[in-house]
Amino acid sequence: NKVVHFFKSNFLTLATFGGVVIGAALGFILRGVKDDWTEREIMYVGFVGDVFLRMLKSLIIPLIISCLVSAIASLDLTLSKRVAARAIAYYLTTTFAAVVLGIVIVVTIRPGVGSDGQSLKNSTVSSDTTTVDTLLDLVRNMFPPNIIEACIFQHQTQLTNDDENNTDIYSYSISTKTTQTTNILGLVVASTVIGIALGQCGKETETIANFFHNLMAMMMKITSWVIRLSPIGIMFLVASEILEMDDLASVMSSLGKYFMTVLVGLFIQGFVVLPLLYFLLTKKNPFTFVKCLGQALATAFGTASSTATLPITIKCLEEKLGIDPRITRFTLPIGATINMDGTALYEAVAAIYIAQVRGMALDIGKIIAISITATAASIGAAGIPQAGLVTMVMVLDTIGLPAEDVSLILAVDWLLDRFRTAINVMGDAFGSGIVHYRSQKELQALKAATAADSTDSS
Ligand code: ASP
Repeated sequence: NKVVHFFKSNFLTLATFGGVVIGAALGFILRGVKDDWTEREIMYVGFVGDVFLRMLKSLIIPLIISCLVSAIASLDLTLSKRVAARAIAYYLTTTFAAVVLGIVIVVTIRPGVGSDGQSLKNSTVSSDTTTVDTLLDLVRNMFPPNIIEACIFQHQTQLTNDDENNTDIYSYSISTKTTQTTNILGLVVASTVIGIALGQCGKETETIANFFHNLMAMMMKITSWVIRLSPIGIMFLVASEILEMDDLASVMSSLGKYFMTVLVGLFIQGFVVLPLLYFLLTKKNPFTFVKCLGQALATAFGTASSTATLPITIKCLEEKLGIDPRITRFTLPIGATINMDGTALYEAVAAIYIAQVRGMALDIGKIIAISITATAASIGAAGIPQAGLVTMVMVLDTIGLPAEDVSLILAVDWLLDRFRTAINVMGDAFGSGIVHYRSQKELQALKAATAADSTDSS
């Protein structure tokens, strides 16, 4: 009876995990049937997964805006500030802890020493921009000139040279390019500002605040529908990815040690560091917490995107763990955008691994530079597949390695991305849990005040 109850109450989580396993099995079976799968055939296999991903993505913009605005508008300013301060303190400490952990592990295991960089493939990523450009872009993207633009474009600084024959560096001009990806960071900042303003205006802007509350309720309803499709969607996403990958055995023979180093780091961060911190700060059982996150973690693994997983993370925390919606809806969208423990750890390990392969000696100054830029690179990485690989160019740049060197680790990145995304999501969730339990007193006081208010007015 207990078993039946367990299966009933955890059906969707188990089914989502099942989706990952069956998808992988399906992928390997199809690979066994024939080995020359064309791009088009892979696209057909992944079609259902693609549609699922599109549905998940369609939730993101309205969900992030309505969640943030409505949560912040319903907290008072002092409490908003406290919640924000707690969340940011948590994000920065855990991200930095992840980077330090990564550095310690990669320096101890030394996966790149003795490797000759045989797996160096032709470069696919190249960049002429400097670390400062990237950091300035990050700040610039926080202030989108208008919200509609932020839904569609991101800003990116680029060096261009109109005259192809002229290689003189001084004739390059700096231009600003917009890339067609949602500027989530800009939306987060804009929504936070709107939420604060609505909270301050109070009764005067009640109608607008209510609009966002209602929009959020509607979005959560749609989310619950999409979530039910996740087992099937994820199964096909994983299957098509397995079909697409290079021969795993040969890739692992050259990159296996690096792969394992990142994995060990992620594991320690997710199952030792974060749970310990959670336990110390809340005195609650961290493993009960992780258990309830199952579905979000499986989705993170299946989609390789913490933003796409966001709707599911919110649902898990609110429904299974009873975390206050004002806290989840405030902290999770911000967390999914800037807090990436898994990515930070990976950035540090990967940069040092590449330096080891290249036989570059790293003094303490360079290690410090890596720890700072890896933290910044994880904050700057969007919550989309392999965003960390792109921002890693910045870490390489600070220690004088060429951007092209990311191709050294390219072959396993699609798989590592899934693991680090799961740890990113886990970090956000633990953060919300910690902020929730640490803000109990204030939340209760607010509840009492609101109740008193409504009896006054009635
Ligand atoms: N895919 C990761 C995420 O969405 C970011 C990364 O590439 O590290 O969290």
